[in-house]
Amino acid sequence: MADKITRSDVEWRELLDPATYHVTRQAGTERPFSHPGFPKGPGQYVCACCGARLFDGDQKFESHCGWPSFSRAAGNIEEHRDLSHGMIRTEVRCERCDAHLGHVFPDGPPPTGLRYCINGVAIRFVPEGAEVPA
Ligand SMILES: [Zn+2]
Repeated sequence: MADKITRSDVEWRELLDPATYHVTRQAGTERPFSHPGFPKGPGQYVCACCGARLFDGDQKFESHCGWPSFSRAAGNIEEHRDLSHGMIRTEVRCERCDAHLGHVFPDGPPPTGLRYCINGVAIRFVPEGAEVPA
């Protein structure tokens, strides 16, 4: 398992841009349809905070929900029960640095039936063969 990354709130605030900080560190949600432009080619999606591999490009599907959606996780994902906003949802976080990524819902396509609904600012696309940013 990957080593945990622990930073203070002040450090994260300095490292991240304000939108990424708000979503990943304060469990925020970006506006829908603010990240329509992720490339479709082969590659992986990594945590915007720590670079951990979270999803593979071929697991992304078009859900029309306004956020990048994946049918399964590639790894480094932790799920937590989230009772905020009067709903019972499953929050998805980066296992390595505890970044809030989004939620997982049981209404995805087969075979998993899952829809990982992820904030675009919480992930970075790394094309196949490219180096994962630190
Ligand atoms: Zn992370």
